[in-house]
Amino acid sequence: MSIKSYIRTVPDYPKPGILFRDITGLLENAEGLREAVDAIAARYSNRPIDIIAGIEARGFIFGTAVAYALGLGFVPIRKAGKLPGEVIGVGYELEYGTDRMEIHVGAVRQGAEVLLIDDLIATGGTALAALDLIRRSGGQVTEACFVVDLPELGGAERLRAFECDVFALCTFEGH
Ligand code: AMP
Repeated sequence: MSIKSYIRTVPDYPKPGILFRDITGLLENAEGLREAVDAIAARYSNRPIDIIAGIEARGFIFGTAVAYALGLGFVPIRKAGKLPGEVIGVGYELEYGTDRMEIHVGAVRQGAEVLLIDDLIATGGTALAALDLIRRSGGQVTEACFVVDLPELGGAERLRAFECDVFALCTFEGH
């Protein structure tokens, strides 16, 4: 089965008009989960990546698995107030609301090549905020990786405009 076939669409969640792309079916399926993590790990296995960064919460699931597969460490980018140490923060807009995220000071060493991972890119607001945090931390991000891209929402294009390539395992038309 294709990775896309494990992802169901839930209309009007969490708000009317949103087509929520639910990755829990992919996570529940042993083959699907392995296929997704292996495909991401294979793409980056020969690249000079120093560390993986994942965005709370679903980016933690794939990001940590890929970090483990590649023998790398993992940096969590978290919602405001969740990290106990000194942080760098940024506010950002979501497809449905606004939020703030943070990274620990010193989690990314100066000049480190960071692979940014999240489950899905829609408008790109979340990923751009994470990119900003990593770059302000002194890290470089050549490419960000997602399980799902919703290209019509323009997020991938926005990231590319900030010199960050985008790779996704699958795409869904529409929003
Ligand atoms: P955005 O900042 O608009 O690119 O939104 C990306 C973030 O919001 C990701 O962390 C996703 O988990 C979540 N998200 C946004 N839109 C959807 C959607 N249609 N289905 C599932 N998750 C979404």
